[in-house]
Amino acid sequence: MKAFIQVIAYLVMALSAAGVVLCLGLYFLGPAGIHPLQARETPVLFGGVFVVWFPTVILMNRLTQDFKQKDLWKAALRGCPPWMRVALWVVIGCVFAAFFLPMLSKRNPGDAPQTFVLFPIIFYAVSFCVMYSLVNVEEHDSSRRCLNGHPISPLAKFCEECGAPAAPDSKVSLQI
Ligand SMILES: [Zn+2]
Repeated sequence: MKAFIQVIAYLVMALSAAGVVLCLGLYFLGPAGIHPLQARETPVLFGGVFVVWFPTVILMNRLTQDFKQKDLWKAALRGCPPWMRVALWVVIGCVFAAFFLPMLSKRNPGDAPQTFVLFPIIFYAVSFCVMYSLVNVEEHDSSRRCLNGHPISPLAKFCEECGAPAAPDSKVSLQI
C-alpha cells in the first residue's frame, strides 16, 4: 500500500510539474506570437487540474487527519522544506497579482485571455508540494526534536517534556 501511494505521489508530481510548465509556456509564448493560445488547449490544462487534484485531496487526508482544521495547510505541507513552502506562496501570489493587477488599472482581464492559463498553476503547484510532503513526511515526523533532543510531535513548537523550543533544522537530531 505504501509503495502504491508513493507511485501515485510521484505520478501526480510529474503531471503537476508538466502542468505548470505548460501553463507558463502558453502564457509567455501566446503574446509573443510564437504559439497563440488555442481554444482547445485550455480545457486540457483545466482537465489536468482535476486529474491531479483528485488524488491530492484523497492523499492529503493522510497528512491532515490528526490535525485541526486551522492547521490544515501547515500539516499538509510539513514534509516540504521551508524554501518550497515559501516558493509555493510566492507562486500563488504572483498568479493572483498577474490576474488582478491589470484589473486595478481598469483593464478588462478579457483583453489578455492568456492570463486565465495561469490559474491552473495554483492547483498544480499545491498538488506538487502536497505530494512532495507526503513522500517525505515520515522522515520529517520521526526526526523532529526539541533543542534538548527529545522527540516532539509534528507541529509542536515546544517540547512537551522540557519546554525547550523545537530545533530549527530537523537534521539536528542526527548529531545527537
Ligand atoms: Zn525537550
